[in-house]
Amino acid sequence: MKSSSNSATADTIVIGGGLHGCSTALHLALRGMKVIVVEKDRVGRHASSANAGGVRRLGRALPEVPLSAASAQMWQNIEALVDDDCGFVASYQVKLADTDEQMDQLRARAQQVRDIGFEHEHIIDQQTLRDLVPAVSPACIGAMAVKGDGFANPFQTIKAFHQKCKQLGVTFHEGSGVDRIERAGTEWSVQTADGTFVAPNIVNCAGAWGGKIAAMLGDDLHVEARAPMLIITEKMPHFIDCVAGAQGIPFSFKQFPNGTVLIGGGHVGTAHPDINKTDLNFEGLATYAKTAQRYFPIMKNAKIVRCWAGIEGFMPDGIPVIGAGQADNVFHSFGYSAHGYQMGPVCGKILSELVIDKASTLPIAPFAPTRFAA
Ligand SMILES: Cc1cc2nc3c(=O)[nH]c(=O)nc-3n(C[C@H](O)[C@H](O)[C@H](O)COP(=O)(O)OP(=O)(O)OC[C@H]3O[C@@H](n4cnc5c(N)ncnc54)[C@H](O)[C@@H]3O)c2cc1C
Repeated sequence: MKSSSNSATADTIVIGGGLHGCSTALHLALRGMKVIVVEKDRVGRHASSANAGGVRRLGRALPEVPLSAASAQMWQNIEALVDDDCGFVASYQVKLADTDEQMDQLRARAQQVRDIGFEHEHIIDQQTLRDLVPAVSPACIGAMAVKGDGFANPFQTIKAFHQKCKQLGVTFHEGSGVDRIERAGTEWSVQTADGTFVAPNIVNCAGAWGGKIAAMLGDDLHVEARAPMLIITEKMPHFIDCVAGAQGIPFSFKQFPNGTVLIGGGHVGTAHPDINKTDLNFEGLATYAKTAQRYFPIMKNAKIVRCWAGIEGFMPDGIPVIGAGQADNVFHSFGYSAHGYQMGPVCGKILSELVIDKASTLPIAPFAPTRFAA
């Protein structure tokens, strides 16, 4: 067992060393704050490095659209933020349709996005789709497409954010799970297996464990731990640049520059967050494989080399909690419900604004922790 010898003070303690914790710490440090990040395992151990790397505005819940659009701009220039391109490849994300009904649904959706002032989702016809994605099944009659979306490398991303934070003076305590949080005058005292840390501000970026931290801070926020799954194939000849999904079906499909193909999009295994473990659901994995063959006939020859799942926090309404808690100088940012990687850069900035300016420059009212109050 570790000795509890550490004791340090800071302006802000960030709980959780995933992408959202690192991005929050980075933006706070850029504005001159002294920041400590406490992480129960290792930085990036969970969803932030296990994810599919999809960088997508396409199909976002409407309240997320302004945040996702702002984050997309940051991804275009991610190297300026973290001195690393994070493996970001901008191409297209497309959502495929193979029935007239699905095309109507996509048209209606694109109109909803235009109605709130955003123009990035476009409907494309069968020929344009085939020009963009020659390997797509002839059964697909069109798609919704977003130019400039794409994918990045999750492990490279978290490593770059972590590294940049350290350069800016952020202190990380790994293997430092938070057991207890107490108010001490105007300060918060955060007790961990690795020592006690004191600061006036706390940001809860604990992902699927965010509800537990919220409870320690007096906020009743239920987050469900689920285990989204992914499949990766052996290397295949290059056949697609876009990231593809399908209307109304849990499916996400991309080919990396090294030729491997990643298949995911919503099937889940079982999460055991208390022991950092996941169990795969082979029925869900088989459905992924069949769906991939349905939309991309070339996949009939693919060989799967590995499958895995990550532990992710889901909120009841499918969008994260971003905002102040009930107690003074407490802020929450968790429950990204399997689409928080793309939003990492901008949400860290939003949290830094909440801590320092007490207000966000982007519209975050729909994400308020108070929305679940009875
Ligand atoms: C398989 C999979 C595929 C995905 N694909 C995509 C995608 O393509 N595009 C996309 O945008 N999103 C995707 N996501 C979602 C995305 O990965 C997450 O929304 C995002 O990484 C969440 O980041 P986070 O920092 O909030 O959480 P996490 O990465 O889970 O970090 C939270 C951290 O808090 C730590 N912690 C918890 N409790 C404590 C405690 N008591 N004390 C100290 N530390 C604590 C944890 O150990 C963890 O490291 C996917 C997720 C999964 C699992």
